[in-house]
Amino acid sequence: MTQPSLMEKIVSLCKRRGFVFPSSEIYGGFAATYDFGPMGFLLKKNIEKAWRRWNVEMREDVVEIEGAIFMHPRVWEASGHVGGFADVLVEDMVTHKRYRADHLIEEAGLLENAGGLSLQEIDDLIRSHGLRSPDGNPVSSAKKFNQLVKTHLGATEDDTTLVYLKGESCQNIYLNFKLVQETMRLKLPFGIAQIGKAFRNEITVKNFLFRTREFEQMDVQYFCRPADADRYYEEWKENRWKFYTEFMGFSAENVRWRQHSPEERAFYAKDAWDVQYRFGEIGFQEIEGIHHRSDYDLTQHQKFSGTDLSYLDQETGDRFIPYIVECSGGFNRLFLSAMFDAYREEGEGDKKRVYLAFKPSLAPYKAAVFPLLANKPQLVEKAKAIFSILDSRFSPIAWDDRGNIGKRYYAQDEIGTPWCVTVDFQTLEDGTVTVRDRDTAEQKRLPIKELTTFIQTGLSS
Ligand code: ATP
Repeated sequence: MTQPSLMEKIVSLCKRRGFVFPSSEIYGGFAATYDFGPMGFLLKKNIEKAWRRWNVEMREDVVEIEGAIFMHPRVWEASGHVGGFADVLVEDMVTHKRYRADHLIEEAGLLENAGGLSLQEIDDLIRSHGLRSPDGNPVSSAKKFNQLVKTHLGATEDDTTLVYLKGESCQNIYLNFKLVQETMRLKLPFGIAQIGKAFRNEITVKNFLFRTREFEQMDVQYFCRPADADRYYEEWKENRWKFYTEFMGFSAENVRWRQHSPEERAFYAKDAWDVQYRFGEIGFQEIEGIHHRSDYDLTQHQKFSGTDLSYLDQETGDRFIPYIVECSGGFNRLFLSAMFDAYREEGEGDKKRVYLAFKPSLAPYKAAVFPLLANKPQLVEKAKAIFSILDSRFSPIAWDDRGNIGKRYYAQDEIGTPWCVTVDFQTLEDGTVTVRDRDTAEQKRLPIKELTTFIQTGLSS
């Protein structure tokens, strides 16, 4: 029997413990869309909170906005998405299934990164190596396929009512640059952050949350003087490394950098690096891009909208379009990397346990409270009182009085609850409880009055 891959184990855990469900499952599912279940929702909120804490609250120079999904259709012409936001596809000549040409070339081992190839180069590679589709059939020549998701708003369905769902979330930030700068009276350098939806008609849909058609992007767009941009680019790179390896606590060996080659980079970009995370058997893949974007975005919107987006430096009297250093990550990939990083298996056979070693502040529940026996009213009453104390400080707290204690520990381990507090008969005598640690599975007795300090200390470590 073949062993399931780490990705398969995580997909299965996500479903069985209420983290992530395939969207529309009762209709047989809907490709590359997922719903967050109760545990996934709590984890999502905690990850967003951590992201916001690091990128906005702990800084004095970043503010956050939340923009609309619908924007003026010209935005996507100015941004280059209508003309150029395209994947290069080839079609299986027998099944007519379409595949991303760069992925076929990479999976065949011809190039490590085929993202920057021209149509001609792709066709040449396919022909010279006799590349076939995954079903073993010949493929067509390469064609561009626009990824923007379109719809209509208004009473008719024609070109005049065509609108696009956001292909990338950061466009709201560029459009609001001037309003934010003026209303908040900000001076360069400053950043605008946003967690916002993005939609892409992705053709290769596999690897669970890694590539979805609807996802949230987590952006910081940092506006600065052109002469300072190189320095801030380096600072943000350092900042991103610390965010993943220190603040999120990801193991440093699972995180690495990849620089874009000049062919891959947009013509206006001075430099571009991806932060990659090692997703088990799939290997290192992009979770965030850090881009040195020059003044391209604001210049384009100034040109297409006819609105002056320049910045007046009060001290020198200079007027110019600021440069942008962009940090653009995706929530689904951050969520998935948090799951991969936390997943642990221990022991064999009956003794085997799976647990999610989340940093305590990320865990869906901060602690769980159990009465040892559900049919002993004194134990239940005492456990409820402890639950209330902890819940008022560290909400949400889990409550479980079903099945035996071993099963309850097992269930809390699989959702990553750092501490389980059990009320037993000794509690009624001496006011102590059993506290079990998720990572070591060790149990110790603690006086009830020390519980909140104990949990608070664990959460801040
Ligand atoms: P890829 O090359 O993997 O398609 P990209 O370079 O197009 O990604 P960007 O446009 O730079 O990605 O978007 C920034 C971030 O948004 C990515 O680092 C990733 O975390 C996230 N992202 C992009 N596309 C998807 C997707 N289809 N599903 C989930 N997250 C995505």
